[in-house]
Amino acid sequence: MSKVLILPGDGIGQEIIAQALKVIDFLNTNNALNMELVHGLVGGTAYDETGSPLPQATLDAAHECDSILLGAVGGYQWEKLERGLRPERGLLGLRAELDLFSNLRPAILYPQLASASTLKEEIVSGLDLMIVRELVAGIYFGEPRGVEERNGEKYGFNTATYFESEIRRIGHSAFKIAQLRDKRVCSVDKANVLEVCELWRETMENVAKEYPDVALSHMYVDNAAMQLVKAPKQFDVMVTSNLFGDVLSDCAAMLTGSIGMLPSASLNKSGFGMYEPIHGSAPDIAGKDIANPLATILSVAMMLRYSLNQADLADKIEMAVNTVLDKGYRTQDIASEGDSIVGTSKMGDLVVGALV
Ligand code: NAD
Repeated sequence: MSKVLILPGDGIGQEIIAQALKVIDFLNTNNALNMELVHGLVGGTAYDETGSPLPQATLDAAHECDSILLGAVGGYQWEKLERGLRPERGLLGLRAELDLFSNLRPAILYPQLASASTLKEEIVSGLDLMIVRELVAGIYFGEPRGVEERNGEKYGFNTATYFESEIRRIGHSAFKIAQLRDKRVCSVDKANVLEVCELWRETMENVAKEYPDVALSHMYVDNAAMQLVKAPKQFDVMVTSNLFGDVLSDCAAMLTGSIGMLPSASLNKSGFGMYEPIHGSAPDIAGKDIANPLATILSVAMMLRYSLNQADLADKIEMAVNTVLDKGYRTQDIASEGDSIVGTSKMGDLVVGALV
């Protein structure tokens, strides 16, 4: 029995999570999934009901669950709140409180959607790479930081820092994921210029000794950016620091051309994970039954694979999504001429119907 905290959040969050729940309900009834669901509040809706974007009750529930499935947070109506009360603080608070240091961002391009990419079909068709980004350390958190007056002018500074232990744990995360895939890890750094990256590279070499079945290679970040748009299919798992991962994972996601298709996970050292689509709350289309729910449904598959040890059911969900795409059904955001355009709820029903 696994226990999962469901946090729909704001905007399209409610609609897309409702489709993921249809899939979970079906698997609970028909495939011995045995998942208990706990429902909670986060983001702007949590602020409206409780005065906080991350109520204590949500944090308490998170600590009692095995994983979190989150929709999205944010919306125009909360943009003028003071920073600490904004919806995004709910998300950042969960990441920090649960020490979710390992951010997995797959970039998968379903061959049926190859024409949605800005790159040539033969470059991206069948793309399946995983970026593993360190999420709670590095230059985004390093001290000292600030803007001050020096020599009569303003001076801004941040510090790129990593403890060996912080590199080691993200390394283990990447190697373990590679063992479930094609067993290749490419570590991305800038060791030719930055001392902190020399430590990164040396530590990755040390971690690699514990995974003789996985091949480790290294690449400088400038070359990695170039290779991602030149020949992205050469990569299996890429592991990198917070800053480099931020940039490279957005670049990789956009290779697929479809923001509504990509799931993500943020894990801590005990394997607890928060799973969510990579897109935001899309307030421009909220409540219209046109949002693509597939990234959220695929987030359930990721959860089953990476936290709940049920890869067989993860495969089943991914195959169902494939079947629906094969049949030409598309939500508006991924549709081309000749496709059958369906709404959010219908897409959820179609995936459930394809679960065999
Ligand atoms: P967004 O991802 O919400 O939307 C960008 C564009 O993509 C919009 O045109 C939207 O309609 C479209 N889109 C997004 N998801 C879609 C889906 N599932 N199906 C079809 N189309 C989809 O990004 P934004 O507009 O920059 O931000 C909107 C709000 O979301 C902001 O408040 C922002 O802070 C928040 N946000 C939250 C998260 C998160 O919860 N993880 C991430 C990014 C942005």
